[in-house]
Amino acid sequence: MRVWKLTWGLLRHRSWSIIGQLICLIGLVTLKPTTDFIVSQIFDKLAGVAQLELGLWTLVIILPVLFFVRFLCNIFELLFWEIYWQSQTILLRKNMMKGILKKPGAKAIPKSPGESISRFRGDVFETVLFSKVLAYRIPFLIYLVISLAYMSLISWKLTLIVFLPISALIMTAGLLFRRRYKKYHKVSRDATGKVTDVIGKIFGSIQTFKVATAEEDILTYFDELNEERGTAVMKDEIFRALVMIIFFLVTSFGTGFLLLWAGSWLHAGALTIGNLYFFMAQLSQLREILWETGELFPLHSRAKVSYERMFELIKSGDVSNSEEDLVKHEPIYIREPFPAISNLTKTQQDRLYKLELKNLSYEYAANGNGIENINLTIERGSFTVITGKIGSGKTTLLRILLGLLPKETGEVYWNEELIEDPKTFFTPPRTAYTPQVPNLFSETIRENITMGMLETDKKISESLRLAVFAEEVTKFRDGLNTVIGPKGVKLSGGQRQRLAAARMFIREPELLVFDDLSSALDIETEQQLWNQLFDKSNRTTCLVVSHRPIALQRADNIIVLKDGRIDAQGKLADLLETCNEMKLLWEVYSEKNTKK
Ligand code: ADP
Repeated sequence: MRVWKLTWGLLRHRSWSIIGQLICLIGLVTLKPTTDFIVSQIFDKLAGVAQLELGLWTLVIILPVLFFVRFLCNIFELLFWEIYWQSQTILLRKNMMKGILKKPGAKAIPKSPGESISRFRGDVFETVLFSKVLAYRIPFLIYLVISLAYMSLISWKLTLIVFLPISALIMTAGLLFRRRYKKYHKVSRDATGKVTDVIGKIFGSIQTFKVATAEEDILTYFDELNEERGTAVMKDEIFRALVMIIFFLVTSFGTGFLLLWAGSWLHAGALTIGNLYFFMAQLSQLREILWETGELFPLHSRAKVSYERMFELIKSGDVSNSEEDLVKHEPIYIREPFPAISNLTKTQQDRLYKLELKNLSYEYAANGNGIENINLTIERGSFTVITGKIGSGKTTLLRILLGLLPKETGEVYWNEELIEDPKTFFTPPRTAYTPQVPNLFSETIRENITMGMLETDKKISESLRLAVFAEEVTKFRDGLNTVIGPKGVKLSGGQRQRLAAARMFIREPELLVFDDLSSALDIETEQQLWNQLFDKSNRTTCLVVSHRPIALQRADNIIVLKDGRIDAQGKLADLLETCNEMKLLWEVYSEKNTKK
């Protein structure tokens, strides 16, 4: 992980905000020794040994002016830091989200959503902090030069005696402890991720825990994880604090030495009281600078761990997300208005005449299952049903076709044109897809359908009518504005499926892909849904996974899948005569249906 390069990329983004901070800081660090020098001269004036020509009162008047300018620098530095902080965290988060969305949908994130959120928060914080601390070395270096120059003018011997050993010790300690910093920090970040993960799971599955009377167990597990995290974070922080204490002690010894030496030099007249004040003031400031410079080592190690964790989220073998993409400069919107969402427009090229799948194969690395050698043609306006036992590969086939999983071999042709990147091609207005469990959001029915598109109520109602959900929605007190709860918990299974169908219909796609859409619908509703779809003057092409007789009877083509391969395909009547697998499935399906 190239931490330096990534940090440079981050610093260059909206660089005026970091430059603003640095200018303020340079103001601060040059004014600080100047103020100290003026104070030292006031002391010496009072003792009658001052080097400056200026009168005592002039010096006294200059002092508040200097303090006021320093105050202004402080305020503006904070202001620029806030802007820098906002801009960089938003940029990193946007790039991470973009990287995740570039990956095939069914392969999205390596760990759970809860764990991933901890990377969006803590890890982003570490990397931005490191970039700031690093950039701040520039004004501090300037301070060091100015202050050392002032000090050497007074006594270069004393400067060397006090300053050299301290810096050498701090730098060596920093280098020595680097590895350990990294180790402790990784353990601590991973432990935090686990806790966030379980919080997400608890909130997402309260009902499951209740049904299984596992509330106590999950809370005990949560306690254990918290304890684990507590220990890890404690180790990380204590180690950091220990090293900082060492730095602090080293610099405090420096002050002690200075006082020991200074005593005899004061006595011999080689040092004035003003000089001593100046040295002491510089030393306390230098101590802070060296301390913070020492902190660069742990911060560098922490940033490295964090960049690695952030990259892990967007890394994928089948898309070209690189480390640099994390800090790629992109438009961000802090005070600027968000760009308008454009409505979908269908062109002539989007129109579907024929879809062909040739030799599609995919194997899950975990168990060797998947699909093999799938060949299939779908004509415009046709109704194709994929059926088969559980685990025969139906969902996998849809996911491969739509690019939600990367195919291993084979090609997909849309109107005889090879589709290179299915995951970006099979989207509205060409294709719309509903998985077995639709993804619904804790928003209103209207927002779940439009998802940002600007659509009229008339069009929304029409899509609800097609999905056989319009009448029910009008009975809800808030109608289209009914909030449906997380994942749509306030709706029944069938209502959720129909809402997802309405979301597809409003996009008027050329190809509708349903994965077991009707599984939670009663027979009448399902019949009505298919009728309405087929009654449309311009029949939409449908590819459907289903085990329902009503769908199979209507199908123009049934694909019977068995162990990831096509066992047979054709119309129901023919298959029932020629295909044993279809006969067996039909018996099971018919039985289930009569029981319903
Ligand atoms: P169906 O939709 O016909 O029930 P799937 O396409 O979901 O079947 O699964 C086909 C096979 O692939 C099954 O044996 C299943 O165990 C396996 N499988 C599905 N998803 C995964 C996954 N994410 N990782 C590993 N194996 C999987």
